[in-house]
Amino acid sequence: MTHHAIIVGGGIAGSAAAIALRKAGITADLYEARHDGGDYTGAALRLPRNGLSALRAIDARDLVADISYPIASTELSSGTGRHLGTVSFTSDGHGEVPRTMPRARLARTLRSAAEARGARVFMNKRLTRAATRADSVIATFDDGSTAEGTVLVGADGLKSTIRRLVSPTAPEPHYAGTHLVYGYAPANTAAPPSPDAFHIYWGKRATFGYTTAAGEIYWYANIASPEPLAAEQQRDTETWRKHLTKLFRRDRTPAMKVIEAANVIIPSNTRTLGTVPSWHTDHMVLIGDAAHAVPPATEQGAALAVEDAVVLAQFLRDQEDTAAALDAFEAARRERVTRAGASRRSRTTHRRGTPRWIEQRRRDKRIAQAVRSGAMNPPAWLHDHRTTWE
Ligand SMILES: Cc1cc2nc3c(=O)[nH]c(=O)nc-3n(C[C@H](O)[C@H](O)[C@H](O)COP(=O)(O)OP(=O)(O)OC[C@H]3O[C@@H](n4cnc5c(N)ncnc54)[C@H](O)[C@@H]3O)c2cc1C
Repeated sequence: MTHHAIIVGGGIAGSAAAIALRKAGITADLYEARHDGGDYTGAALRLPRNGLSALRAIDARDLVADISYPIASTELSSGTGRHLGTVSFTSDGHGEVPRTMPRARLARTLRSAAEARGARVFMNKRLTRAATRADSVIATFDDGSTAEGTVLVGADGLKSTIRRLVSPTAPEPHYAGTHLVYGYAPANTAAPPSPDAFHIYWGKRATFGYTTAAGEIYWYANIASPEPLAAEQQRDTETWRKHLTKLFRRDRTPAMKVIEAANVIIPSNTRTLGTVPSWHTDHMVLIGDAAHAVPPATEQGAALAVEDAVVLAQFLRDQEDTAAALDAFEAARRERVTRAGASRRSRTTHRRGTPRWIEQRRRDKRIAQAVRSGAMNPPAWLHDHRTTWE
């Protein structure tokens, strides 16, 4: 059977899948629920070496050269400004170190490339339901239109609609215990420039991280809290600026200056997803966060999403039988992704409440020891993984 893919979700997984499927000679239509809201609708992320390798496999590595910046190390410090250690990202055979960029900018770049390579891209189309026929699947969108394909690729993220159709007993995402507030600021703020490095400070009441890219600062604050933010708590930028200022005012870090100058402040709840029992039916398959949302602290979600996209396209390229291809895809990916989810490093964790000074000293000591022992080094099996097209 000749495959025709309907891809739902024009984020990183869906756009990379459209590029990969086109490379495999498979026709692909991509449907994205939102309009393009600009660069700052999502956090900045780091794409580690394994993600860059997966992009290279589909001739998309060069696309990120101009929209991203290298990050060769993470500098860890306490809230007093004392340096606790450096985690280095060694480069691979291609001289690659992780690259940082706004998530929305990466998704847009991949989406445009998919279109240029022959995929059809439809924005403002939200899938509402899907039904399987004998040899195909029909997707219905919120404007009443439909699309038919031999395979429906569910790349619709953490809150996936398609996950409920593919795996009705799958858990819903759950709150992971921290509020993650992130944003952007002009780089002429008083934060020291940090080309090639990401800085993380374990403050008295919350963790702060930032890097300076050309002209901009990408930053986040991670705040432990037993309760998730309610929707109404997530709106007002100036209230958040005041709140963050209170949290960081007793630390000696660049946090205050960056937050005062921030032009974008986006509060969110960290969420994780338990094991999804199955990622596919005969004609539908989940990839990226829809299948396996690893915690943000692993810095692997986007990279694994691109790997998924490439591997899925390879199995569809090599197998005429759609169900067999989807079966082989899940078998090939599940172990690696599960292991990645369990490999969470402690970069954004923070004790609940205000730790006493003695607890802070112990925590700083633990971090410094972990850096010295190599426990915080990026695991080679994860970051040195190579994806090739053959
Ligand atoms: C704060 C934060 C920091 C992170 N940092 C890193 C990092 O440093 N490194 C890293 O590799 N990863 C990081 N991640 C994870 C990474 O952002 C995700 O893993 C990645 O974006 C997953 O891509 P995706 O395409 O699967 O999902 P998404 O990027 O969520 O894309 C899903 C798309 O589907 C669309 N959609 C949803 N429902 C529908 C529907 N019904 N119909 C049509 N379209 C729909 C959405 O609008 C969206 O565009 C971070 C995540 C967060 C939250």
